[in-house]
Amino acid sequence: MALKKDSKSLDSDNEKSRNEDSPLLDLKNLENKKEIEYQPLEESKGNDNDSGFLEFGFNQSILNSLRNKGYKNPTPIQKAAIPELMLGRDLLGQAQTGTGKTAAFALPLIEKLTGNKEINAKVLVMTPTRELATQVAESFKSYSSESSNFKTVAIYGGTDYRNQISALRRKVDVVVGTPGRIMDHIRQGTFQIKDISCLVLDEADEMLNMGFLEDIEWIIDQLPENKQMVLFSATMPSEIRNIAKKYLNDPAEILIKSVKKETQLISQKFLYVQRHHKLDALKRILELNNEGVIIFVRTKLLTTSIAEALENSGHTVAVLNGDIPQNQRENTVDRLKKGFINILVATDVAARGLDVERIKLVVNYDFPFDKETYTHRIGRTGRAGRSGEAILFVNQREKHFLRNLENSTRTKIEEINIPSNKIINEKRMEKLIDNVNDSSLAKDENEENKALIIDVLDNLKEKYSMDDSNIAMAAINLVIGNKSFFVNEDDSWIHKQNNTDRSRSNRNINNRMRNSNRRNNYQNDSFETYKFNFGKFDGVRVANIISSICNSTNINGRSIGKIQIFNDYSLVDLPKDLHRETKNKLKKIKVRN
Ligand code: AMP
Repeated sequence: MALKKDSKSLDSDNEKSRNEDSPLLDLKNLENKKEIEYQPLEESKGNDNDSGFLEFGFNQSILNSLRNKGYKNPTPIQKAAIPELMLGRDLLGQAQTGTGKTAAFALPLIEKLTGNKEINAKVLVMTPTRELATQVAESFKSYSSESSNFKTVAIYGGTDYRNQISALRRKVDVVVGTPGRIMDHIRQGTFQIKDISCLVLDEADEMLNMGFLEDIEWIIDQLPENKQMVLFSATMPSEIRNIAKKYLNDPAEILIKSVKKETQLISQKFLYVQRHHKLDALKRILELNNEGVIIFVRTKLLTTSIAEALENSGHTVAVLNGDIPQNQRENTVDRLKKGFINILVATDVAARGLDVERIKLVVNYDFPFDKETYTHRIGRTGRAGRSGEAILFVNQREKHFLRNLENSTRTKIEEINIPSNKIINEKRMEKLIDNVNDSSLAKDENEENKALIIDVLDNLKEKYSMDDSNIAMAAINLVIGNKSFFVNEDDSWIHKQNNTDRSRSNRNINNRMRNSNRRNNYQNDSFETYKFNFGKFDGVRVANIISSICNSTNINGRSIGKIQIFNDYSLVDLPKDLHRETKNKLKKIKVRN
């Protein structure tokens, strides 16, 4: 395969002067470059004119499927990219998910392949993750749903080869896949690539972050030399520019200029929280917003432990991590879309490219590794022109990362406080009023049903001498169950937290105070020592023990006394005279799973 190193439009001398974020390759031919303002998808949908896509000359089947999907006007990236791709040009696009980039490359490729009768695939799309591969394949399928005999196949790891092999054996137009599995099929000879005439690299920066560079180059080297190449990336680090230089031939360049505009739809916030209070802070955040939430954590282990804790608090939660089998992941995303699940606890890799419109809140429970990760995470909300919220948990040590993040994303991230009992209780009351107001029974127009309920109420009044307010209270009690409606836990740590984390000196003072409190408590005999059979060998730390005890019981972190961790056991001082139920819960607690 001859590499296109001499692409005449690229000027390598200037490379050093560009920083990581510089979106553009320097082109001698400036006409190649198109910078476009981001425009929320709402505005693309907004016009009732049905013919926004007519200008591209798409065949009727494509126009029909676009109408079925409710697309009225092309998004800016579609307006810029589609004509170039229809001309067969290579294309380098800097755009994030949410801009409509998938349709930008899928539609012209489908147009070109309409009526294709050959067996072997003509288009190969490479994506970093199986989730994105499935999504892109689904997009191709829906845009070609009215085109007869158009076949798209997704191939990715984590699932059986057999179905993929048999799909590849039949007629196929487009193959969408992840690098590893594509390589496997090419090596095994189960994916015929000799007729590939277009290669799309989608979310190229992600593929690089995930270490796929060698694989990508290997695959490109196997493909026919003469082909159209399309490269989309959310960011343009130098590695991506190098790939573009090496393989793209005189590409049209499109940059969705103001990525900020997209993230403007997302209100970005942070709160200070110490490690051992994170879970509590999370639960409090979810009191205010728990419908359509993604919580990002760093490890698979954390996804499960947090999901368990949230489930115990009554949330509908699911986990998305690399250990979950592919079909289960798809099922999870589907259930999230349909609202059967409200909260997803995910690792970064597993949630890449996730496109669920109802996500209203992204919680960065663990600080993201870099700016790109942060941008991808928060991009899971604010989808399709909707607004969204992103909250970042920051501890004392991460403070300077926060500043770096604000500088590199050129965004001011607004500080918020962990919701106090007062705020949570107000929210609960607000919800209660809404729920009662919305209750279907009150809205039941059926006169017979109404009469029956009025009978029940009369009965209660006559037989049990209940008045209206007694009945209403009893009904509300039934709804909320036996648990207390209001949060009464000690929330003084929240206020302390805010002051504490804002200044290191304060933190030290507080730590000293807390330690001396612990010692004092210990000395004044109000504690009892409990032995737990986990210790240093299990990788347990003080924070783990505190959070496990607080999560599994009603013991408040502040009332936990001295904690000593030995190799294979730990000693924890807890208040004397704990309730039997709490003691039973203590027997079962798990630390770090
Ligand atoms: P993408 O950037 O490809 O991930 O697309 C983001 C979302 O926008 C997807 O849900 C698409 O279905 C939707 N979308 C793409 N193009 C349009 C359009 N022209 N009008 C309305 N919605 C669109």
